[in-house]
Amino acid sequence: MGVETVVLGIIHETWHLKAECRGPESIYFFPPNTAERREDRDQREEHAKAICLQCPVRRECLDFALRVREPHGIWGGLTETERRRLLPSE
Ligand code: SF4
Repeated sequence: MGVETVVLGIIHETWHLKAECRGPESIYFFPPNTAERREDRDQREEHAKAICLQCPVRRECLDFALRVREPHGIWGGLTETERRRLLPSE
């Protein structure tokens, strides 16, 4: 997930400290730097979403991602495409 992004972005929020995706699991929340096959992406995203379902700060995470219009990765259990659908059209 974007915990590293949150930290690097110096966001003054503490919800990320309780994120289920901290540590090695974070690799599932963003695509790899190399090409990713569709079925690999689907599997990776499913795995990340399953982690989000267990996360105590899912609501805060999703609110944050929507607020900053985070363009990449799984946040709050939603992909970038799914989050875009929740945003008002510009
Ligand atoms: S909701 Fe998902 S992406 Fe957000 S902090 Fe929790 S585990 Fe990470």
